[in-house]
Amino acid sequence: MTIGTFSYPMPVNEPTFQYAPNSPEKAAIKKTLQSLKNTPVDIPMYIGGEQVFTDKKIAINPPYEKDFLLGHFSEGEEKHVHQAIEAALAAKSSWEEMSWENRAHIFLKAADLLATKYRYHIVGTTMLGQGKNVYQAEIDAACEFIDFLRFNVHYLAEIYKQQPISSPGMNNRVEWRPLEGFVLAVSPFNFTAIGGNLCASAALCGNVVVWKPAYTQIYSANIFMQVLKEAGLPDGVINLIYVDGPVLGKVCFSHRDFAGVHFTGSTNVFNTMWKSIGENINKYRTYPRIVGETGGKDFVLIHKSADVDVAVTALIRGAFEFQGQKCSAASRAYLPSNLAEAIKEKLVAQLATIKMGTPEDFSNFVNAVIDERAFDKISGYIETAKNNPTVKIIAGGNYDKSIGYFIEPTVIEASDPKYKTMCEEIFGPVLTIYVYDAEAFEETISLVDSTSPYALTGAIIAQDRFAVEFATNKLRNAAGNLYINDKPTGAVVGQQPFGGARGSGTNDKAGSMINLYRWLSARTIKEVYVPVTDYKYPFLQES
Ligand code: NAD
Repeated sequence: MTIGTFSYPMPVNEPTFQYAPNSPEKAAIKKTLQSLKNTPVDIPMYIGGEQVFTDKKIAINPPYEKDFLLGHFSEGEEKHVHQAIEAALAAKSSWEEMSWENRAHIFLKAADLLATKYRYHIVGTTMLGQGKNVYQAEIDAACEFIDFLRFNVHYLAEIYKQQPISSPGMNNRVEWRPLEGFVLAVSPFNFTAIGGNLCASAALCGNVVVWKPAYTQIYSANIFMQVLKEAGLPDGVINLIYVDGPVLGKVCFSHRDFAGVHFTGSTNVFNTMWKSIGENINKYRTYPRIVGETGGKDFVLIHKSADVDVAVTALIRGAFEFQGQKCSAASRAYLPSNLAEAIKEKLVAQLATIKMGTPEDFSNFVNAVIDERAFDKISGYIETAKNNPTVKIIAGGNYDKSIGYFIEPTVIEASDPKYKTMCEEIFGPVLTIYVYDAEAFEETISLVDSTSPYALTGAIIAQDRFAVEFATNKLRNAAGNLYINDKPTGAVVGQQPFGGARGSGTNDKAGSMINLYRWLSARTIKEVYVPVTDYKYPFLQES
């Protein structure tokens, strides 16, 4: 029973630890990394109240030290998808009937556990399992993750407050119901926070969830599951399973109680999902919610008035942090002819100072890409470029997978603005630049807008305010997150709601109210206090 209207004010963003030399956090994370490496894991699936182990053990290795064994996880099969759905549906009525404040406190407690007791575990497993350097792991697995959990509680409180007006003699009210059925959360490898948010946002709204992360994120996903259990999440509300994507889709998308999918990953996978949902539409009890944040081909458009150092910094940080494996990573840049030589010179010189190697050595800015498949795909683009006389590799271009999946930060200069690395998502440390006639800004804007099917992030670097205004207007649909004089990455919850349209997704802005609405289904209730008892309206009398 709720006997009060409780308050969940706007939180502040979780402060970022800096891990400077001699800082307590640096000592703590180094110790945690060592202890994680000394303690091999055997990770189960979590279905209802059970920890499910199978005979199919899959090895977990750091991408930068591929022969080191962190442990194993148990892969599931079709029957585990059925079991996870059944466990979710069994937990549904008690979960949605729990007062929402009690649901909220579970996730607020989880946020505090991540901020304190489990901070170095979630950061450490993200470094080891996904190959992020300490700062990239901190801003993802600690700060963004904690922010998602806390801000969503505030946003949901604001949504619940939204109520209709009522005429005299009656009351109108809206109930923000969870969806009827289960929600499927399918998450990518690149952000620990995204995996957690995809399942937690829907669950906070009272939904029950089947969560399948990318196999290369299971090491850190497992920590979040432990945190949720410790925070008091009832069994069956979030069921974490590791099965092949198509097997998952086959079972979930043909289930009568499938109520929605919360997806982040590549555009092709999302399109496949949407298609199977369409093909199965007659099977469902209710129209499912389809929410997906997908690929990007994010641009940096530099104007002739730009500050060269601002442009170079935006390119280096935007394109190469976490090896370019952010959906928001800068991967195509348009350099004005008047500044091109200066920008290229500084870019190449600064890239030469960047160290690549294990994230356990904090002086490495660049680490390994996630796995062999990604390595082969990215290096394939570089090889093709090397063999094409119309393009030039002006920085990097080398790669080596003998110890880990290392690819040098690579800059390709293309003379054709539609060269394949200007158009396709590569998802690695490869930036393609194109030099345009500095006087042809307007034509170049059209090029930026029409070059790729995506519209996730983009940046305009300019000091001329007319240029900023002009490009901002013309590129209205080219990016869901537009940055002016900054890199196109690094969205912060509560500050830059994140997501894109066109081929980049449904733009339901993770970590915002817009997203939470998708996991709610409103019911309007009208109650009349003194009901009318005669069907006749006054107009029915002639005189
Ligand atoms: P991916 O599409 O390969 O995998 C995403 C998830 O889908 C994984 O859990 C995977 O196992 C699952 N999957 C694959 N095939 C499936 C199928 N047929 N049915 C059901 N599930 C299936 O993506 P990834 O390599 O893990 O992540 C990189 C991609 O994610 C990039 O395209 C990137 O742009 C995108 N991404 C987008 C955002 C955003 O906010 N727009 C954020 C992060 C990543």
